Amino acid sequence: MKYVEKVLETLKAQNPNEPEFHQAATEILSSLQVVIEKHPEYEKAGLLERFVEPERVVMFRVPWVDDQGNVQVNKGYRVQFNSAIGPYKGGLRFHPSVNLSIIKFLGLEQILKNSLTGLPIGGGKGGSNFDPKGKSDREIMAFCQSFMTELQRHIGQDTDVPAGDIGVGGREIGFLFGQYKRIRDEHVGVLTGRGLTYGGSLVRTEATGYGLVYITAEAMKQRNDSFEGKTVVISGSGNVAIYACQKAQSLGAKVVAMYDSNGYVYDPEGIKLDVVRDIKEVKRGRIKEYAERVPGAVYTEGCKGIWSLPCDVALPCATQNEIDEASAELLVKNGVKYVAEGANMPSTLKAIEVFQNAGVVFLPAKAANAGGVATSALEMAQSSQRLFWTFEEVDKKLNDIMVNIYHNIDKAAKKYGMEGNYVAGANIAGFEKVAEAMMAHGIV
Ligand code: NDP
Repeated sequence: MKYVEKVLETLKAQNPNEPEFHQAATEILSSLQVVIEKHPEYEKAGLLERFVEPERVVMFRVPWVDDQGNVQVNKGYRVQFNSAIGPYKGGLRFHPSVNLSIIKFLGLEQILKNSLTGLPIGGGKGGSNFDPKGKSDREIMAFCQSFMTELQRHIGQDTDVPAGDIGVGGREIGFLFGQYKRIRDEHVGVLTGRGLTYGGSLVRTEATGYGLVYITAEAMKQRNDSFEGKTVVISGSGNVAIYACQKAQSLGAKVVAMYDSNGYVYDPEGIKLDVVRDIKEVKRGRIKEYAERVPGAVYTEGCKGIWSLPCDVALPCATQNEIDEASAELLVKNGVKYVAEGANMPSTLKAIEVFQNAGVVFLPAKAANAGGVATSALEMAQSSQRLFWTFEEVDKKLNDIMVNIYHNIDKAAKKYGMEGNYVAGANIAGFEKVAEAMMAHGIV
């Protein structure tokens, strides 16, 4: 049996009931076979066995009191996966679906994504099964304070620097930072995505969505194509989706649909982003209200139907496994040319196969959504220097990083005879650097 297959089999046997972790590991390791063949020393050094085993997993209790005076208890997680090339870095997700399997899949992906940015950051991820939806600000604060009371002993500006993810935006980062500072008595860059008044970086809020569009634009440019006049479908209506929409529109695209976890809106005239932002960011309401406010727009209950809308570009920006094989087939049938993943692992393995077989330009999450963490690393750099860069400076660095990532994954795919296979290109380009660093460190 080949080394990669052996490692995958052991991983599945030793980590049962972790389907998302198996899925991510399968996707990554399958494309590393070609690298492993060139480096027999990796097997001797147990490199892959160490690569798929987190350096540390912290699981903890998060007790808090709700507005009715009831005691609530949630689960907290931090997976410190790999620190070979820098301190652990990766977001915190607050969503009822969060479990160890999801945090481990996200952490494993994060190692390679962070490596692709070219910046010195290792991989980690964390979160809780806490659901911020419908909670008062006081309840959110109580939860965040309790969560950080435990987390603070495991993180630090040179050890592990968490950020936001699903359910963790500016408000939550503020409460988490406040509690860290209170307990540790240090005003340092221990979290990224901070507000601009207390160490945050310009462009961090926009970074993932903007970066997604920058890398897609570069893939288009290489094909003498552009966003101008393209019809775009974006899933989600959160942080990543909103700024992907804004940047795509500014490059001349028409975004016709977006969704939240209840259903999707279709606006043939093009989504009015100010209305979406008012509903989602200001009122924290449901996307359904869009159709009540914008004449001609139609709301459909349920999410999946969004992929039946004809489009040139699909940008899944909500959550894992939102595009299955059937949805991918529909997109291809309706002429999609580019699919770039804003969310983490939004396409199933079968869906990816459909896109690749149909010759769709498919940009996987670890490359396409790396703009968020890259800008987080730029926030860390500014914190260390105790300086702030302008919006234009950070935006330019972000654009350069995304353009670089595109060319690196393109080159890596070509180097191993898989031209246009950016899944393989991203896994290989990300892995090579981490593997080299791990080999240099000895058996640790
Ligand atoms: P937000 O919480 O801001 O938005 C998430 C959006 O996705 C919301 O519209 C939400 O709908 C929708 N959504 C969440 N779960 C589901 C579901 N099960 N089915 C349908 N819709 C769902 O999160 P972000 O925009 O920050 O993150 C979105 C994705 O991007 C995630 O996969 C995240 O890991 C990834 N990502 C984010 C980065 C960042 O910088 N924020 C960086 C890199 C990746 P509702 O409002 O109904 O909950």
